[in-house]
Amino acid sequence: MKRLFLSLIVLLFAAPTAIAADDAPHEHVFGEWYTVTAATCTALGEERRDCANCEEYETREIPLKEHTFGEWYTVTDATCTALGEERRDCANCDAFETRDIPMQEHAFGEWYTVTAATCTALGEERRDCANCDAFETRDIPMQEHAFGDWYTVTAATCTALGEERRDCANCDASETQEIPLKAHTFGDWETVTAPDCLHRGEAKRVCESCELEETMVLQMLGHSFVEDPYVAPTCTTAGRTQGEHCERCGAVLFPGPTTLKPLGHFLDEHGDCKVCGEHIKDLCPYCGKDHDGQLFGGLIAWLHSMLLRLRALFQG
Ligand SMILES: [Zn+2]
Ligand SMILES: [Zn+2]
Ligand SMILES: [Zn+2]
Ligand SMILES: [Zn+2]
Ligand SMILES: [Zn+2]
Ligand SMILES: [Zn+2]
Ligand SMILES: [Zn+2]
Ligand SMILES: [Zn+2]
Repeated sequence: MKRLFLSLIVLLFAAPTAIAADDAPHEHVFGEWYTVTAATCTALGEERRDCANCEEYETREIPLKEHTFGEWYTVTDATCTALGEERRDCANCDAFETRDIPMQEHAFGEWYTVTAATCTALGEERRDCANCDAFETRDIPMQEHAFGDWYTVTAATCTALGEERRDCANCDASETQEIPLKAHTFGDWETVTAPDCLHRGEAKRVCESCELEETMVLQMLGHSFVEDPYVAPTCTTAGRTQGEHCERCGAVLFPGPTTLKPLGHFLDEHGDCKVCGEHIKDLCPYCGKDHDGQLFGGLIAWLHSMLLRLRALFQG
């Protein structure tokens, strides 16, 4: 399109001249473009192409060349309060470019205490820039209270909690805490109901401070059996088989002992007991028998006493 337009211009303006220079009008045949004046970074260049058949030629501009900048170099150092500047120059002309160097960070030193913290107020510490007046501050956390030892405000009893407290040495703060209940101070156990072989008993004790009563069950004792040895019956006293009884309550272990009846005396002809040797009664001196248990015994005893008296008379 552009080429067509150029050709049209050549036709309109160059043609009459061409006709004038050369007798034969012709269509120009241009060669390759070549540089007449090289472009720099400050001046346009020029290139040209010539017609192979006549003196006609065409020219056009070569655009400006880009600057050939070198390395960036520092013009002004950046500080913590001002931007710096760096620059680079064109190797071929006076053109140059500049740009900012960002500000430097402050060169803060160590933190130092401006105001010490207490247990009621925050402290403050600060650090300064070595290169300018800038500084930073920050809080120092509050100190813990300097509590002393716990001391008793109210002593504990066995029914009420006590209270103890400790105070800060540097301010009015204080802390309280409970003192646990004291143990009851019980007296000795006293028997309320004594236990026996078959029943439980009860004991109690009382706190000397608050009169709280504690009770305790006393275990049932159970029987304590002892042996009742065999007792042999005698002529006049009863005997007994072997058995056992509780030495505490007298309860007898089932089935219990059997009573053995007295044996009774066993008399000889003199009226003495053959077993115990005791003289029990006088027998009839005439017949040697005991008439007490006999039928008509009294009459027989009287007759035998008469006969004995008669025998005495005749013998005498
Ligand atoms: Zn020509
Ligand atoms: Zn330049
Ligand atoms: Zn600074
Ligand atoms: Zn305090
Ligand atoms: Zn108590
Ligand atoms: Zn018993
Ligand atoms: Zn006897
Ligand atoms: Zn007799």
